[in-house]
Amino acid sequence: MSLDPRGALVLFSGGQDSTACLAWALERHAHVETIGFDYGQRHRVELDCRGRVRQGISEVFPLWAGRLANDHLLDLRLLAQISDSALTEPRAIEMQASGLPNTFVAGRNLLFFSFAATIAYRRNLSVLVGGMCETDYSGYPDCRDNTLKALQVALSLGMATPMTIETPLMWLDKARTWALTQALGGDALCELIVEHTHSCYLGEREHRHAWGYGCGACPACELRRKGHEAWRAGLAG
Ligand code: ZN
Repeated sequence: MSLDPRGALVLFSGGQDSTACLAWALERHAHVETIGFDYGQRHRVELDCRGRVRQGISEVFPLWAGRLANDHLLDLRLLAQISDSALTEPRAIEMQASGLPNTFVAGRNLLFFSFAATIAYRRNLSVLVGGMCETDYSGYPDCRDNTLKALQVALSLGMATPMTIETPLMWLDKARTWALTQALGGDALCELIVEHTHSCYLGEREHRHAWGYGCGACPACELRRKGHEAWRAGLAG
């Protein structure tokens, strides 16, 4: 497969989904940069994972190492000032009357993509890659395919240059995301994701399960565990 000559910028949090997206981009694009956002997360574990995942990929996949370029980390702590969310405030995760979990920072992905687009413009990159997904839908309207297609048009018009938003996980459930990971980087990539990425809302890194580290009880852990189990069951069946 010939490489896409356009440079890509991956929204890379250090979690499972964005690591799968990074591998997806490295397989397709000759030049891939990453961007992360420090928005005053209650737990910084995920941010700490970013460097380890990038380093692990460079060590294990020489072909991808030659394509993996700059990392950008933006200070977006102003999000904590403009939102009221369990991701940035010390309180329990629960469902709100609106039907959305209180981890919801309204419009967060619109902001992330807009900031990413300004960096991409400066770096001469024209493909933005994000791990948003409608299938394991948590009720976040800014993860919807149509939301992001509309944003792609807005960014391309506003910057007067084509900006493509790619969301390779949009129609995959968690089991299929593991299968994609396996197809892209085999057992080595799956192992890297189990060992070095983080999903747990509580920032728990003490207990290692077959699917990775976490408390095992929060919604993020539950989703990750179920997906991993479904994937393994599919492999066995
Ligand atoms: Zn957890």
